[in-house]
Amino acid sequence: MTAKRFENKVAIITGSSNGIGRATALLFAEEGAQVTITGRNSERLEETRKLLIENGVPSENINSVIGDITESEVQEKLISSTINSFGKIDILVNNAGALIPDKLGNVGIFQNVQILDDNFNLNVRSVVELTQRAFEYLEASRGEIVNVSSIASGPQGHSAHNYYSISKAAIDQLTRNLALQFIPHGIRVNCVNPGIVSTGFFSALGLNDEQIGLFTESMTSDPSKIPSGEMGKPEEIAKLIAFLADRNSSSYIIGQTITIDGGSTLVMGMLAGNSNLGKS
Ligand code: NDP
Repeated sequence: MTAKRFENKVAIITGSSNGIGRATALLFAEEGAQVTITGRNSERLEETRKLLIENGVPSENINSVIGDITESEVQEKLISSTINSFGKIDILVNNAGALIPDKLGNVGIFQNVQILDDNFNLNVRSVVELTQRAFEYLEASRGEIVNVSSIASGPQGHSAHNYYSISKAAIDQLTRNLALQFIPHGIRVNCVNPGIVSTGFFSALGLNDEQIGLFTESMTSDPSKIPSGEMGKPEEIAKLIAFLADRNSSSYIIGQTITIDGGSTLVMGMLAGNSNLGKS
């Protein structure tokens, strides 16, 4: 029997109580990894744990940590409980994140700067801090980091969600900076940049089911928005994360940001609606 891809590997996957992180935890664990799963919502985190077990993952291969990743005690617990449970860390997937909106409805630069801090604390600062804490273990294992950014990071402007998009641009550059600093220590760092993916992202943003339905219809029916005509699935993003976390598959890829978006970022605004798009 051939060994599973992540046999004897230990992975921390942040934001695994939902969406992309949940799909990644399932894929890694099915492929043999011992996983630390985490999120604030204990019920959804338990759903992830049960999903893994239903799919044949032994319960002793799952370590659950409930908490807010922006808090240092939670970051510390993620590291210490992973070491206590599994003895090492091979892979860190920095996936937890959200577009934190201004509840007053202000957009772009007119959002309160507290919203800037909130987006950066979650999407950037927690990644920096967790990476600092994981470094010595990843160095010992010659490990891998995969960050989850977004196509909102650019190069196109994204002024409505200014603070979220600049937090994701920071993750792209952080990926490159870390990759250069860490590769002499044997640690590879890469990044995935998803387009629109069907996850809890939109309800976390405050949209109700009807609004999510309308948004999905508007995105998938217009080839200038998503040329492939489909929302991304979390499982598809998980497969790219797994590829980048697997040294046998991607050892020579260092510090790259890889877009996975059904073609959304290919469309140039001045050509959108052009008859060459779509079926005509
Ligand atoms: P989901 O809302 O489905 O999942 C987000 C995950 O992050 C959840 O597990 C959530 O857990 C966790 N999380 C959010 N805030 C915190 C916090 N303060 N502390 C701990 N955990 C937290 O969305 P996605 O799966 O889509 O998001 C995953 C990543 O993908 C994010 O970084 C997002 O920016 C990125 N992305 C998503 C896109 C999309 O269209 N879906 C597009 C581009 C990028 P809990 O709520 O339990 O705390």
